[in-house]
Amino acid sequence: MIRNDEFYMHRALEQARLALEAGEVPVGAVVVDGRGEPIGVGYNCPVGGQDPTAHAEVQALRSAARALGNYRLDDCTLFVTLEPCLMCTGAIIHARIRRVVYATAEPKGGMVESRANLFAQPWFNHRVEIEGGVLAAPAKRLLQQFFRERRRADP
Ligand SMILES: [Zn+2]
Repeated sequence: MIRNDEFYMHRALEQARLALEAGEVPVGAVVVDGRGEPIGVGYNCPVGGQDPTAHAEVQALRSAARALGNYRLDDCTLFVTLEPCLMCTGAIIHARIRRVVYATAEPKGGMVESRANLFAQPWFNHRVEIEGGVLAAPAKRLLQQFFRERRRADP
């Protein structure tokens, strides 16, 4: 059953809370197939995973690809709580994701609206639909909470 964007973004926010509990920058992601079924989830964990590529989007793409038995996630939508970075926009294109929905913008490294819009570049032969600002406020609050606590712990 296909639900609205907010429904799936709440699932992505649950993943972001797992990252927060693990002491990682709280970003979460969910991949939903064409029938509206969540098939992959992930949260940001580069520190704990000792893996610079372990962003929420990449974790969710890997999880979805394993579930489908296919690296191409043709009819899928990726929901993520933060605007994707350079690496993740590339991974999203390689996975042939149909649509990306994100919550809050990332002014420093966001590659969808903040620093650039990589998805709009004419040299890619794959088009990705984008939608930003879905449940931006709770996603931003989680990030602010993380950085506030970290400043307190490490002045
Ligand atoms: Zn990323």
